[in-house]
Amino acid sequence: MSIYEAVIGLEVHVQLKTKSKIFCGCPANFGADPNTQICPVCCGYPGVLPVVNRAVVEGLVRSALALDCRINKHSVFARKQYFYPDLPKNYQISQYELPLAENGHLQVKVDEQSRDIRIHRIHLEEDAGKLLHAIGSRPLDYSLVDLNRTGVPLMEIVSEPDLRTPEEAAAYLSHLRAVLRYVGVSDCDMEKGSMRCDANVSIRPSGAQGLGTKTEVKNMNSFRSVREAIAYEIDRQTLVLDSGGRIVQETRLWDAQNNVTQSMRSKEEAHDYRYFPDPDLVPLNLSDQYLEELQKSLPELPEARSARYVEKFGLSSYDASVLTAEKKLADFYEEGLKGFEGKMQKEAAKPLANWLTTELLGRLHAAKKEIEESLVSPESLAALVALVYKGAVSGKSAKVVFDEMFVNGGEPAAIVNQKGLGQIDDEKQISEWVDEIILVNDKAVQDIKSGKTSAMGALVGGVMRKSKGRANPQIVNRILHKKFSQ
Ligand SMILES: [Zn+2]
Repeated sequence: MSIYEAVIGLEVHVQLKTKSKIFCGCPANFGADPNTQICPVCCGYPGVLPVVNRAVVEGLVRSALALDCRINKHSVFARKQYFYPDLPKNYQISQYELPLAENGHLQVKVDEQSRDIRIHRIHLEEDAGKLLHAIGSRPLDYSLVDLNRTGVPLMEIVSEPDLRTPEEAAAYLSHLRAVLRYVGVSDCDMEKGSMRCDANVSIRPSGAQGLGTKTEVKNMNSFRSVREAIAYEIDRQTLVLDSGGRIVQETRLWDAQNNVTQSMRSKEEAHDYRYFPDPDLVPLNLSDQYLEELQKSLPELPEARSARYVEKFGLSSYDASVLTAEKKLADFYEEGLKGFEGKMQKEAAKPLANWLTTELLGRLHAAKKEIEESLVSPESLAALVALVYKGAVSGKSAKVVFDEMFVNGGEPAAIVNQKGLGQIDDEKQISEWVDEIILVNDKAVQDIKSGKTSAMGALVGGVMRKSKGRANPQIVNRILHKKFSQ
Protein backbone atom coordinates (compact mmCIF):
# COMPACT_ATOMS: atom_id res chain seq x y z
CA MET A 1 0.00 0.00 0.00
CA SER A 2 1.27 3.46 -0.93
CA ILE A 3 1.27 6.61 1.16
CA TYR A 4 -0.57 9.43 -0.56
CA GLU A 5 -1.22 13.05 0.21
CA ALA A 6 -4.37 14.81 -0.87
CA VAL A 7 -4.46 18.01 -2.90
CA ILE A 8 -7.66 19.97 -2.39
CA GLY A 9 -8.92 23.21 -3.89
CA LEU A 10 -12.27 24.78 -3.09
CA GLU A 11 -14.61 26.75 -5.32
CA VAL A 12 -16.97 28.66 -3.09
CA HIS A 13 -20.06 30.47 -4.36
CA VAL A 14 -21.31 33.19 -2.07
CA GLN A 15 -24.54 35.05 -2.60
CA LEU A 16 -24.02 38.78 -2.16
CA LYS A 17 -26.67 40.30 0.07
CA THR A 18 -28.09 43.03 -2.17
CA LYS A 19 -31.63 44.35 -2.59
CA SER A 20 -31.77 43.67 -6.31
CA LYS A 21 -30.32 41.18 -8.77
CA ILE A 22 -27.01 41.59 -10.53
CA PHE A 23 -28.22 42.90 -13.93
CA CYS A 24 -31.84 44.01 -13.37
CA GLY A 25 -33.99 45.63 -10.69
CA CYS A 26 -35.84 42.47 -9.56
CA PRO A 27 -35.66 41.75 -5.80
CA ALA A 28 -32.90 39.29 -4.92
CA ASN A 29 -34.42 37.80 -1.75
CA PHE A 30 -35.47 34.16 -1.45
CA GLY A 31 -38.79 32.65 -0.47
CA ALA A 32 -41.23 34.46 -2.79
CA ASP A 33 -43.81 32.52 -4.83
CA PRO A 34 -42.30 30.94 -7.96
CA ASN A 35 -41.67 33.30 -10.88
CA THR A 36 -42.90 36.43 -9.10
CA GLN A 37 -39.48 38.14 -9.05
CA ILE A 38 -38.61 38.09 -12.72
CA CYS A 39 -38.47 40.50 -15.64
CA PRO A 40 -37.50 40.43 -19.33
CA VAL A 41 -33.81 40.92 -18.43
CA CYS A 42 -33.39 37.97 -16.05
CA CYS A 43 -35.67 35.84 -18.26
CA GLY A 44 -33.38 36.52 -21.21
CA TYR A 45 -35.91 38.01 -23.60
CA PRO A 46 -34.45 39.07 -26.95
CA GLY A 47 -33.30 42.67 -27.17
CA VAL A 48 -32.93 43.41 -23.45
CA LEU A 49 -29.73 44.90 -22.05
CA PRO A 50 -28.21 44.02 -18.68
CA VAL A 51 -26.87 46.82 -16.43
CA VAL A 52 -24.51 45.87 -13.62
CA ASN A 53 -25.66 46.58 -10.05
CA ARG A 54 -23.22 48.93 -8.31
CA ALA A 55 -23.79 47.31 -4.90
CA VAL A 56 -22.70 43.94 -6.29
CA VAL A 57 -19.35 45.30 -7.50
CA GLU A 58 -18.88 47.04 -4.16
CA GLY A 59 -19.62 43.80 -2.26
CA LEU A 60 -17.10 41.83 -4.23
CA VAL A 61 -14.37 44.46 -4.03
CA ARG A 62 -14.77 44.84 -0.25
CA SER A 63 -14.63 41.04 0.17
CA ALA A 64 -11.57 40.80 -2.06
CA LEU A 65 -9.76 43.55 -0.15
CA ALA A 66 -10.52 41.77 3.13
CA LEU A 67 -9.02 38.62 1.59
CA ASP A 68 -5.87 40.47 0.66
CA CYS A 69 -6.48 40.19 -3.09
CA ARG A 70 -5.15 42.35 -5.89
CA ILE A 71 -8.10 44.16 -7.49
CA ASN A 72 -8.03 44.34 -11.27
CA LYS A 73 -9.08 47.90 -11.97
CA HIS A 74 -10.06 46.77 -15.44
CA SER A 75 -12.21 43.64 -15.62
CA VAL A 76 -14.55 42.11 -18.17
CA PHE A 77 -17.78 40.12 -18.15
CA ALA A 78 -17.89 36.94 -20.21
CA ARG A 79 -20.57 34.62 -21.51
CA LYS A 80 -20.31 31.02 -20.40
CA GLN A 81 -22.34 28.80 -22.74
CA TYR A 82 -24.74 26.78 -20.69
CA PHE A 83 -27.63 24.85 -22.16
CA TYR A 84 -30.08 24.18 -19.38
CA PRO A 85 -33.63 25.48 -18.74
CA ASP A 86 -32.79 27.21 -15.46
CA LEU A 87 -30.99 30.00 -17.39
CA PRO A 88 -33.29 30.83 -20.30
CA LYS A 89 -30.82 32.87 -22.34
CA ASN A 90 -28.61 29.76 -22.61
CA TYR A 91 -25.51 31.40 -21.26
CA GLN A 92 -24.44 32.56 -17.86
CA ILE A 93 -22.87 35.98 -17.46
CA SER A 94 -19.65 35.42 -15.55
CA GLN A 95 -16.05 36.57 -15.70
CA TYR A 96 -13.30 34.58 -17.31
CA GLU A 97 -10.06 36.08 -18.54
CA LEU A 98 -10.14 39.25 -16.48
CA PRO A 99 -11.81 38.61 -13.12
CA LEU A 100 -12.33 41.44 -10.63
CA ALA A 101 -9.81 40.10 -8.11
CA GLU A 102 -6.83 37.72 -7.96
CA ASN A 103 -4.02 36.52 -5.69
CA GLY A 104 -5.53 36.64 -2.22
CA HIS A 105 -4.69 34.87 1.02
CA LEU A 106 -6.49 33.34 3.95
CA GLN A 107 -4.87 32.01 7.14
CA VAL A 108 -6.20 28.62 8.17
CA LYS A 109 -5.69 27.17 11.63
CA VAL A 110 -6.01 23.48 12.47
CA ASP A 111 -4.82 22.21 15.88
CA GLU A 112 -3.03 25.51 16.56
CA GLN A 113 -1.04 25.11 13.30
CA SER A 114 -1.50 28.09 10.99
CA ARG A 115 -1.13 27.81 7.22
CA ASP A 116 -1.47 30.37 4.48
CA ILE A 117 -3.92 29.30 1.77
CA ARG A 118 -3.68 31.22 -1.49
CA ILE A 119 -6.81 32.44 -3.24
CA HIS A 120 -6.49 32.15 -7.00
CA ARG A 121 -9.29 34.50 -8.04
CA ILE A 122 -12.67 35.98 -7.17
CA HIS A 123 -15.15 36.79 -9.91
CA LEU A 124 -18.75 37.86 -10.28
CA GLU A 125 -21.49 35.82 -11.89
CA GLU A 126 -25.24 35.42 -11.96
CA ASP A 127 -27.04 32.53 -10.30
CA ALA A 128 -29.30 30.16 -12.23
CA GLY A 129 -32.95 29.39 -11.50
CA LYS A 130 -34.30 26.33 -9.80
CA LEU A 131 -35.69 23.20 -11.46
CA LEU A 132 -38.27 21.12 -9.66
CA HIS A 133 -38.60 17.46 -10.60
CA ALA A 134 -40.96 16.49 -7.78
CA ILE A 135 -43.57 18.08 -5.57
CA GLY A 136 -42.85 16.99 -2.04
CA SER A 137 -42.11 13.27 -2.35
CA ARG A 138 -44.22 12.86 -5.50
CA PRO A 139 -42.03 12.66 -8.62
CA LEU A 140 -43.27 14.54 -11.70
CA ASP A 141 -43.10 13.28 -15.27
CA TYR A 142 -42.24 16.84 -16.30
CA SER A 143 -40.08 19.55 -14.71
CA LEU A 144 -41.06 22.91 -13.30
CA VAL A 145 -38.81 25.93 -13.44
CA ASP A 146 -38.68 28.84 -10.99
CA LEU A 147 -36.65 31.79 -12.26
CA ASN A 148 -36.75 33.90 -9.08
CA ARG A 149 -33.13 33.02 -8.38
CA THR A 150 -31.98 33.64 -11.95
CA GLY A 151 -29.71 36.67 -11.88
CA VAL A 152 -29.13 36.69 -8.12
CA PRO A 153 -25.55 38.00 -7.59
CA LEU A 154 -22.85 35.49 -6.74
CA MET A 155 -19.16 35.77 -6.22
CA GLU A 156 -17.05 32.73 -6.86
CA ILE A 157 -13.97 32.43 -4.69
CA VAL A 158 -11.48 29.92 -6.07
CA SER A 159 -8.63 28.75 -3.85
CA GLU A 160 -5.31 27.41 -5.08
CA PRO A 161 -4.94 23.65 -4.46
CA ASP A 162 -3.14 24.38 -1.17
CA LEU A 163 -5.38 22.42 1.19
CA ARG A 164 -4.17 18.98 2.28
CA THR A 165 -6.78 17.50 4.62
CA PRO A 166 -10.58 17.52 5.00
CA GLU A 167 -10.11 19.38 8.31
CA GLU A 168 -8.12 22.12 6.59
CA ALA A 169 -10.81 22.46 3.94
CA ALA A 170 -13.49 22.87 6.61
CA ALA A 171 -11.33 25.35 8.54
CA TYR A 172 -10.75 27.38 5.36
CA LEU A 173 -14.47 27.51 4.71
CA SER A 174 -15.28 28.47 8.25
CA HIS A 175 -12.70 31.27 8.32
CA LEU A 176 -13.84 32.50 4.91
CA ARG A 177 -17.37 32.68 6.25
CA ALA A 178 -16.20 34.62 9.32
CA VAL A 179 -14.35 37.20 7.20
CA LEU A 180 -17.27 37.68 4.79
CA ARG A 181 -19.73 38.05 7.65
CA TYR A 182 -17.46 40.66 9.24
CA VAL A 183 -17.42 42.56 5.97
CA GLY A 184 -21.22 42.21 5.96
CA VAL A 185 -21.60 41.13 2.33
CA SER A 186 -23.39 37.83 2.90
CA ASP A 187 -25.01 35.60 5.53
CA CYS A 188 -22.89 32.71 4.18
CA ASP A 189 -25.49 30.20 5.33
CA MET A 190 -24.67 26.81 3.79
CA GLU A 191 -27.97 25.24 4.80
CA LYS A 192 -29.90 28.06 3.12
CA GLY A 193 -27.66 28.03 0.07
CA SER A 194 -26.16 31.51 0.38
CA MET A 195 -22.77 29.77 0.57
CA ARG A 196 -22.09 26.74 -1.63
CA CYS A 197 -18.91 24.80 -1.97
CA ASP A 198 -17.44 22.46 -4.59
CA ALA A 199 -14.18 20.65 -3.93
CA ASN A 200 -11.51 19.60 -6.40
CA VAL A 201 -9.81 16.57 -4.93
CA SER A 202 -6.83 14.55 -6.14
CA ILE A 203 -4.15 12.46 -4.48
CA ARG A 204 -0.46 11.93 -5.24
CA PRO A 205 2.39 9.99 -3.64
CA SER A 206 3.54 11.91 -0.56
CA GLY A 207 6.24 14.40 -1.42
CA ALA A 208 5.54 14.33 -5.19
CA GLN A 209 5.31 17.65 -7.03
CA GLY A 210 2.97 16.87 -9.93
CA LEU A 211 -0.80 16.72 -9.61
CA GLY A 212 -2.94 13.61 -9.89
CA THR A 213 -6.19 13.47 -11.87
CA LYS A 214 -8.85 15.34 -9.91
CA THR A 215 -12.52 14.86 -9.38
CA GLU A 216 -14.93 17.64 -8.54
CA VAL A 217 -17.23 16.93 -5.60
CA LYS A 218 -20.52 18.81 -5.48
CA ASN A 219 -23.66 18.92 -3.40
CA MET A 220 -22.14 19.45 0.03
CA ASN A 221 -24.47 21.65 2.02
CA SER A 222 -22.97 21.76 5.48
CA PHE A 223 -19.50 22.01 6.99
CA ARG A 224 -19.83 18.41 8.06
CA SER A 225 -20.66 17.31 4.50
CA VAL A 226 -17.56 19.10 3.24
CA ARG A 227 -15.34 17.24 5.72
CA GLU A 228 -16.99 13.88 5.17
CA ALA A 229 -17.27 14.10 1.37
CA ILE A 230 -13.61 15.03 0.95
CA ALA A 231 -12.49 12.31 3.37
CA TYR A 232 -14.60 9.79 1.46
CA GLU A 233 -13.22 10.92 -1.89
CA ILE A 234 -9.60 10.64 -0.68
CA ASP A 235 -10.26 7.08 0.55
CA ARG A 236 -12.03 6.15 -2.68
CA GLN A 237 -9.20 7.43 -4.88
CA THR A 238 -6.63 5.67 -2.68
CA LEU A 239 -8.48 2.37 -3.14
CA VAL A 240 -8.70 2.85 -6.91
CA LEU A 241 -4.97 3.56 -7.24
CA ASP A 242 -3.93 0.80 -4.84
CA SER A 243 -5.91 -1.74 -6.80
CA GLY A 244 -4.11 -0.69 -9.98
CA GLY A 245 -6.93 1.45 -11.39
CA ARG A 246 -6.97 4.99 -12.82
CA ILE A 247 -8.86 8.03 -11.55
CA VAL A 248 -11.38 9.36 -14.04
CA GLN A 249 -11.78 13.13 -14.30
CA GLU A 250 -15.42 13.63 -13.46
CA THR A 251 -17.96 15.45 -11.34
CA ARG A 252 -19.22 13.47 -8.37
CA LEU A 253 -22.18 14.21 -6.13
CA TRP A 254 -22.04 13.81 -2.36
CA ASP A 255 -24.88 11.63 -1.13
CA ALA A 256 -25.22 12.66 2.53
CA GLN A 257 -27.75 9.91 3.23
CA ASN A 258 -25.44 7.07 2.25
CA ASN A 259 -22.15 8.89 2.93
CA VAL A 260 -20.69 8.24 -0.52
CA THR A 261 -19.81 10.29 -3.62
CA GLN A 262 -21.37 9.14 -6.86
CA SER A 263 -20.38 9.80 -10.42
CA MET A 264 -22.61 12.42 -12.05
CA ARG A 265 -20.96 13.28 -15.36
CA SER A 266 -17.56 13.58 -16.95
CA LYS A 267 -16.04 16.91 -16.04
CA GLU A 268 -16.18 19.72 -18.58
CA GLU A 269 -12.99 21.48 -19.58
CA ALA A 270 -12.98 25.26 -19.77
CA HIS A 271 -13.02 25.13 -23.59
CA ASP A 272 -16.35 23.30 -23.46
CA TYR A 273 -17.96 26.51 -22.25
CA ARG A 274 -16.94 28.66 -25.27
CA TYR A 275 -16.28 31.71 -23.14
CA PHE A 276 -16.22 35.07 -24.88
CA PRO A 277 -16.48 38.69 -23.68
CA ASP A 278 -20.11 39.77 -23.27
CA PRO A 279 -20.76 42.48 -25.90
CA ASP A 280 -23.81 43.75 -23.95
CA LEU A 281 -21.76 44.85 -20.95
CA VAL A 282 -19.02 47.45 -20.86
CA PRO A 283 -15.82 46.46 -19.04
CA LEU A 284 -15.64 47.53 -15.39
CA ASN A 285 -13.11 50.30 -14.79
CA LEU A 286 -12.54 51.16 -11.14
CA SER A 287 -10.72 54.29 -9.98
CA ASP A 288 -8.03 54.39 -7.29
CA GLN A 289 -10.18 56.72 -5.25
CA TYR A 290 -13.11 54.29 -5.33
CA LEU A 291 -10.87 51.44 -4.16
CA GLU A 292 -9.39 53.58 -1.38
CA GLU A 293 -12.85 54.46 -0.13
CA LEU A 294 -13.87 50.81 -0.04
CA GLN A 295 -10.63 49.87 1.74
CA LYS A 296 -11.41 52.46 4.40
CA SER A 297 -14.93 51.09 4.82
CA LEU A 298 -13.66 47.70 6.01
CA PRO A 299 -14.16 46.79 9.67
CA GLU A 300 -11.42 45.37 11.88
CA LEU A 301 -11.15 41.75 10.72
CA PRO A 302 -11.13 38.63 12.94
CA GLU A 303 -7.33 38.12 13.05
CA ALA A 304 -6.59 41.73 13.95
CA ARG A 305 -9.33 41.71 16.54
CA SER A 306 -8.13 38.44 18.03
CA ALA A 307 -4.56 39.74 18.25
CA ARG A 308 -5.83 42.88 19.99
CA TYR A 309 -7.68 40.78 22.60
CA VAL A 310 -4.49 38.85 23.39
CA GLU A 311 -2.41 42.02 23.55
CA LYS A 312 -4.77 44.38 25.33
CA PHE A 313 -6.87 42.09 27.52
CA GLY A 314 -4.38 39.28 28.14
CA LEU A 315 -6.72 36.58 26.80
CA SER A 316 -5.34 33.27 25.55
CA SER A 317 -5.23 33.03 21.79
CA TYR A 318 -7.82 30.25 22.02
CA ASP A 319 -10.31 32.42 23.94
CA ALA A 320 -9.62 35.34 21.61
CA SER A 321 -10.28 33.26 18.52
CA VAL A 322 -13.55 31.86 19.92
CA LEU A 323 -14.76 35.37 20.75
CA THR A 324 -13.82 36.85 17.39
CA ALA A 325 -15.11 34.00 15.22
CA GLU A 326 -18.40 35.90 14.88
CA LYS A 327 -18.53 39.67 14.68
CA LYS A 328 -21.74 39.90 16.70
CA LEU A 329 -20.16 37.85 19.50
CA ALA A 330 -17.05 40.04 19.59
CA ASP A 331 -19.26 43.15 19.56
CA PHE A 332 -21.27 41.76 22.49
CA TYR A 333 -18.05 41.09 24.41
CA GLU A 334 -16.63 44.56 23.89
CA GLU A 335 -19.95 46.17 24.76
CA GLY A 336 -19.81 44.26 28.07
CA LEU A 337 -16.20 45.27 28.74
CA LYS A 338 -17.23 48.92 28.53
CA GLY A 339 -18.84 48.33 31.95
CA PHE A 340 -15.35 48.19 33.48
CA GLU A 341 -12.95 51.09 33.72
CA GLY A 342 -9.19 51.35 33.42
CA LYS A 343 -7.29 48.54 35.14
CA MET A 344 -10.52 46.73 36.00
CA GLN A 345 -11.08 46.08 32.33
CA LYS A 346 -8.13 43.74 32.10
CA GLU A 347 -9.14 42.00 35.34
CA ALA A 348 -12.67 41.46 34.04
CA ALA A 349 -11.67 40.41 30.53
CA LYS A 350 -11.10 36.73 31.28
CA PRO A 351 -14.12 36.11 33.57
CA LEU A 352 -16.38 37.98 31.15
CA ALA A 353 -15.03 35.87 28.28
CA ASN A 354 -15.73 32.71 30.29
CA TRP A 355 -19.27 33.69 31.18
CA LEU A 356 -19.94 34.62 27.59
CA THR A 357 -18.42 31.62 25.83
CA THR A 358 -19.34 28.84 28.26
CA GLU A 359 -22.51 29.93 30.08
CA LEU A 360 -24.30 32.23 27.66
CA LEU A 361 -23.29 30.57 24.38
CA GLY A 362 -23.88 27.13 25.87
CA ARG A 363 -27.40 28.06 26.96
CA LEU A 364 -28.18 29.82 23.67
CA HIS A 365 -26.92 26.84 21.73
CA ALA A 366 -29.09 24.44 23.73
CA ALA A 367 -32.11 26.71 23.19
CA LYS A 368 -31.23 27.02 19.46
CA LYS A 369 -31.10 30.80 19.76
CA GLU A 370 -28.80 33.42 18.32
CA ILE A 371 -26.96 35.92 20.49
CA GLU A 372 -29.15 38.79 19.26
CA GLU A 373 -32.13 36.98 20.82
CA SER A 374 -30.42 36.80 24.21
CA LEU A 375 -32.34 38.33 27.13
CA VAL A 376 -28.98 38.70 28.88
CA SER A 377 -27.57 42.00 27.65
CA PRO A 378 -23.83 42.79 27.51
CA GLU A 379 -24.36 45.31 30.32
CA SER A 380 -26.17 42.87 32.63
CA LEU A 381 -23.63 40.10 32.03
CA ALA A 382 -20.85 42.57 32.89
CA ALA A 383 -22.76 43.62 36.02
CA LEU A 384 -22.95 39.96 37.11
CA VAL A 385 -19.22 39.50 36.59
CA ALA A 386 -18.65 42.63 38.71
CA LEU A 387 -20.82 41.26 41.56
CA VAL A 388 -18.80 38.03 41.64
CA TYR A 389 -15.54 39.96 41.48
CA LYS A 390 -16.53 42.15 44.44
CA GLY A 391 -17.57 39.06 46.37
CA ALA A 392 -21.15 40.32 46.66
CA VAL A 393 -22.37 36.98 45.38
CA SER A 394 -20.72 33.54 45.36
CA GLY A 395 -19.82 31.78 42.13
CA LYS A 396 -22.52 29.23 42.79
CA SER A 397 -25.24 31.81 43.45
CA ALA A 398 -24.12 33.71 40.37
CA LYS A 399 -25.18 30.72 38.28
CA VAL A 400 -28.66 30.90 39.82
CA VAL A 401 -28.79 34.61 39.04
CA PHE A 402 -27.61 33.91 35.51
CA ASP A 403 -30.34 31.28 35.01
CA GLU A 404 -32.96 33.83 36.00
CA MET A 405 -31.42 36.44 33.66
CA PHE A 406 -31.34 33.95 30.82
CA VAL A 407 -35.01 33.02 31.16
CA ASN A 408 -36.58 36.33 32.19
CA GLY A 409 -33.93 39.00 31.65
CA GLY A 410 -33.45 41.58 34.42
CA GLU A 411 -30.60 43.16 36.37
CA PRO A 412 -28.36 40.87 38.44
CA ALA A 413 -28.28 43.10 41.55
CA ALA A 414 -32.08 43.19 41.67
CA ILE A 415 -32.26 39.41 41.24
CA VAL A 416 -29.72 38.87 44.04
CA ASN A 417 -31.89 40.97 46.40
CA GLN A 418 -35.14 39.48 45.30
CA LYS A 419 -33.92 35.89 45.70
CA GLY A 420 -31.86 36.61 48.81
CA LEU A 421 -28.67 35.32 47.18
CA GLY A 422 -26.22 37.89 48.48
CA GLN A 423 -23.05 36.54 50.04
CA ILE A 424 -23.07 36.40 53.85
CA ASP A 425 -20.00 37.96 55.49
CA ASP A 426 -21.45 38.06 59.02
CA GLU A 427 -18.72 36.34 61.09
CA LYS A 428 -21.01 35.64 64.05
CA GLN A 429 -23.54 33.87 61.85
CA ILE A 430 -20.84 31.88 60.05
CA SER A 431 -19.20 30.94 63.33
CA GLU A 432 -22.52 29.49 64.56
CA TRP A 433 -22.86 27.42 61.39
CA VAL A 434 -19.29 26.17 61.82
CA ASP A 435 -20.03 25.03 65.38
CA GLU A 436 -23.14 23.19 64.26
CA ILE A 437 -21.26 21.39 61.50
CA ILE A 438 -18.40 20.41 63.83
CA LEU A 439 -20.91 18.90 66.24
CA VAL A 440 -22.37 16.51 63.68
CA ASN A 441 -19.12 15.53 61.89
CA ASP A 442 -17.17 13.46 64.44
CA LYS A 443 -15.29 11.49 61.81
CA ALA A 444 -13.98 14.55 59.98
CA VAL A 445 -13.08 16.22 63.28
CA GLN A 446 -11.09 13.15 64.41
CA ASP A 447 -9.33 12.98 61.03
CA ILE A 448 -8.29 16.62 61.20
CA LYS A 449 -7.03 16.22 64.75
CA SER A 450 -4.94 13.23 63.69
CA GLY A 451 -3.32 15.38 61.00
CA LYS A 452 -5.47 14.60 57.97
CA THR A 453 -6.12 18.21 57.03
CA SER A 454 -7.80 17.20 53.79
CA ALA A 455 -10.87 16.33 55.88
CA MET A 456 -11.34 20.09 56.33
CA GLY A 457 -13.03 20.14 52.93
CA ALA A 458 -15.96 18.12 54.27
CA LEU A 459 -16.57 20.71 56.99
CA VAL A 460 -16.33 23.65 54.57
CA GLY A 461 -18.77 21.85 52.29
CA GLY A 462 -21.14 21.30 55.21
CA VAL A 463 -21.15 24.99 56.14
CA MET A 464 -21.69 26.00 52.52
CA ARG A 465 -24.67 23.64 52.26
CA LYS A 466 -26.07 24.92 55.52
CA SER A 467 -25.86 28.49 54.24
CA LYS A 468 -27.36 27.49 50.88
CA GLY A 469 -24.10 28.49 49.24
CA ARG A 470 -24.22 32.03 50.59
CA ALA A 471 -21.51 31.97 53.26
CA ASN A 472 -18.30 33.71 52.21
CA PRO A 473 -16.00 30.68 51.76
CA GLN A 474 -12.88 32.64 52.75
CA ILE A 475 -14.40 33.52 56.10
CA VAL A 476 -15.62 29.93 56.59
CA ASN A 477 -12.08 28.68 56.00
CA ARG A 478 -10.53 31.22 58.31
CA ILE A 479 -12.93 30.48 61.17
CA LEU A 480 -12.50 26.73 60.79
CA HIS A 481 -8.73 26.97 60.82
CA LYS A 482 -8.85 29.19 63.89
CA LYS A 483 -11.03 26.69 65.74
CA PHE A 484 -8.65 23.80 65.03
CA SER A 485 -5.47 25.70 65.81
CA GLN A 486 -6.72 26.60 69.28
ZN1 LIG B 1 -35.16 40.71 -13.52
